[in-house]
Amino acid sequence: MYSDNMQYLSREELKKVQSERLVKVVKKVYDNVEIYRKKMDATGVKPEDIKSIDDITKLPFTVKHDLRESYPFNFFSAPQSEIVRVHASSGTTGKLTVVGYTQNDLDVWADMAARCLSMTGADNNSVVQVSFGYGLFTGGLGLHDGSQRLGALTVPTSSGNTLRQLQLMRDFGADTLCCTPSYAIYLSEAMAKEGFTDRSQFKLKRGIFGAEPWSDEMRRDIEKRLQIKAYDIYGLSEIMGPGVAMECEEQDGLHINEDHFFPEIVDPDTLEPVPFGEKGELVITTLTKEGIPLIRYRTRDITSFKLGECKCGRTLVRMNRVTGRTDDMLIIRGVNVFPSQIESVLFNIGDRISPHYQIIVDRVGALDTFEIQIEISESYFSDEVGKLQALKKEIEHEMTSNLGISAKITLVSPNSLSRSEGKAKRIIDNRKKAN
Ligand SMILES: [Zn+2]
Repeated sequence: MYSDNMQYLSREELKKVQSERLVKVVKKVYDNVEIYRKKMDATGVKPEDIKSIDDITKLPFTVKHDLRESYPFNFFSAPQSEIVRVHASSGTTGKLTVVGYTQNDLDVWADMAARCLSMTGADNNSVVQVSFGYGLFTGGLGLHDGSQRLGALTVPTSSGNTLRQLQLMRDFGADTLCCTPSYAIYLSEAMAKEGFTDRSQFKLKRGIFGAEPWSDEMRRDIEKRLQIKAYDIYGLSEIMGPGVAMECEEQDGLHINEDHFFPEIVDPDTLEPVPFGEKGELVITTLTKEGIPLIRYRTRDITSFKLGECKCGRTLVRMNRVTGRTDDMLIIRGVNVFPSQIESVLFNIGDRISPHYQIIVDRVGALDTFEIQIEISESYFSDEVGKLQALKKEIEHEMTSNLGISAKITLVSPNSLSRSEGKAKRIIDNRKKAN
């Protein structure tokens, strides 16, 4: 049975662990990574100035650009002989962000991913189907190692080949599914289409979904479609991959694995900490990583800490679901719009439309155009122009009142938008090309 007391330390005990680990990691990066030494020297802070976790605000921030500039291996804090694996994520601007792991990093990662799985009630009797992509992307191998560490039977299907996914899910009795939330919806559609309608043949109980921002409305939709409990897992490849934070069975915020990842929430403009409970950008310091420790890494993810204690008894602080990444935020006619806001509106429209949509932004002259293409559900699709016209009007009205700007709504026929087996690509911003 998987057990892990670090989730239940008193706040004082936890702080002691965090402080000891921070002192060590700061010394390590100062000695080994030129970019940190330069940043710290520039602000006049020395490793010996860092005596406890309370001193963390004296340290400089790290951003994705720092990692990209160090391509491929210049950010490594450990000698390359100790690096045993790399993962990488692609950015919008070309160069990959490469992250190297020592064996100890992989062990910690497996522990954290196992902890995350256990938070949802999975254990060594579970059958875990890992339908995240395997490869340089961290989703597949991260949950894979975590599932094995938990002692669960691990089924490494990776993403794609949906028909086979469903057959194996049924035949192997998978009770836990790990994938992107958009792929979970795709799987549920395929289930109906391919005739896997006898739900009693499946043992699926829970889904661990992440790698793209998703809303509570989408959660309820997935739970209904697959008849499971759907949990949000959080991670990012620069920090480690999935396993940084996870919802427990209460589904009331994500516990951050603070013994390894120290979280702060700051105002993205001033970089000052926001009052506890208020929204801002999540900043993480890795306390134990060896390959690429990151000091005050700006994740670009917008969230807030949750007040109060969790009913599950874990003392790890919780954060609210990430509502969006500042990178994903669209500024349309001067208004900030997150795709997750659009998604929430669409789910509230209910089953007259499918959960598939695409956002198209362009610029005509000096004016931004904003269109949302939405699939009508098969059951609602008809030739009655009046019926569809009324639906269109209703969605337009809801969008305007929720987003604060108007959008052109285009209803498209069922199954006409492309499906994704990995991360969904929902935004087409043609303004970037034009400029
Ligand atoms: Zn909890």
